[in-house]
Amino acid sequence: MPDNRLSADGTRVLADLNALRAIGAYKTGVHKPTFSEPHVRSLQWLAQKLPEAGLAAEIDGIGNVLGTSTKAGAKLLAGSHLESQNYAGWLDGSLGVIYALEAARVLNSDPAIKGAVEVASWCDEEGHFGSFLGSRSYVGTVNEAEIDAARDRNADRSMRQALQSSGLAGRPRRLAEAGRHIGYLEAHIEQGETLESGKLKIGIVTSIVGIWQYRITFTGEQNHAGTTKMAIRKDAGLALARFCVAIDETFPKICGPRTVWTTGRITLDPGAPSIIPGGAEMLFQIRDAEAAVIARLEGRLREMATEATAKGPCSVAFERIRTGAPAMMNAAFQDAIEAASADVAGGKSLRMPSGAGHDAQVLSTIMPAGMLFVPSIGGVSHHWTENTDDADIVTGAEVFVETCRRLLQAAATR
Ligand SMILES: [Zn+2]
Repeated sequence: MPDNRLSADGTRVLADLNALRAIGAYKTGVHKPTFSEPHVRSLQWLAQKLPEAGLAAEIDGIGNVLGTSTKAGAKLLAGSHLESQNYAGWLDGSLGVIYALEAARVLNSDPAIKGAVEVASWCDEEGHFGSFLGSRSYVGTVNEAEIDAARDRNADRSMRQALQSSGLAGRPRRLAEAGRHIGYLEAHIEQGETLESGKLKIGIVTSIVGIWQYRITFTGEQNHAGTTKMAIRKDAGLALARFCVAIDETFPKICGPRTVWTTGRITLDPGAPSIIPGGAEMLFQIRDAEAAVIARLEGRLREMATEATAKGPCSVAFERIRTGAPAMMNAAFQDAIEAASADVAGGKSLRMPSGAGHDAQVLSTIMPAGMLFVPSIGGVSHHWTENTDDADIVTGAEVFVETCRRLLQAAATR
């Protein structure tokens, strides 16, 4: 890298991340559910930092923090989220916010850059109240009725009450301004072990997986567990268990290389030791980066349900309850991350899909979007032991700043 180019200040990045970790600290991680006191304090902390990057800060009516620039030229939006899962890690979300802040600090004051990085922290990416409420509000797909209905999964309070006690009730919700941004860039910890095991420093996200979720309900006959002979039972619980085994035998033959599927919850009705379950329900999820693969698996699942009903003795009802299409990351953004990695991270990068959901998938519905990953030690996340080597955090920051520079320069020469 030429010496006259300003780059990320690794010491400053680590200090900021540690300052955020100190707000709501839990062991070596944090406990910052959405609109908890430490979460709101983290939003305020960021709002106070943004002027360092030449940005005007605002916390809007849904808890998004937005830093906007008056500098002439192209604007690149960058960010992530500041709330955490319960008793979880210090880097999930905060890393992407601090990288965005750092890119804005380095590039917005640089007269050689014709344009600016604008910073966003999206509220409730972790889903304590809903599904991507902050970023979806920004792209215009959240209405007031959805906010009225949203409730805190951790506490007996509505989202309205939480906004009120956070001092945000009545503030306007900011919407994306059409044509303002050349795109959105987000950094995140990988939350898996692909990079670490490959001794790589940067993951270039190609797409964010789609998540399809199903409710599969088995109906049999509730009866006495002592007097009902085995031959005449209609045990819905047993039918469900057989179905799970059948999925595990069938799916590997027709899935994609990175498809994953999970039965996350099983409920038996009535669920007592001396009663044969008359009803059983499973919540089942499939994730893949390709819609066609998920469609193929869903088709097979439907056939299996129909076959099971025909065979008896229990009937199987099948319902899709969540459809999340895979989000493709922009090709030019992927190329910019790869070029920046070649420049400042020795080319130790890998193109890979993201198995977890991120705000970038929401932003990608209205503008070009890109994501980069840094390694997670042992692949651990959503746990307070989540961590990344300081050296990898600094390398990631350098690649992030360099990627922003390339994207802004490319926009300036178009
Ligand atoms: Zn996250």
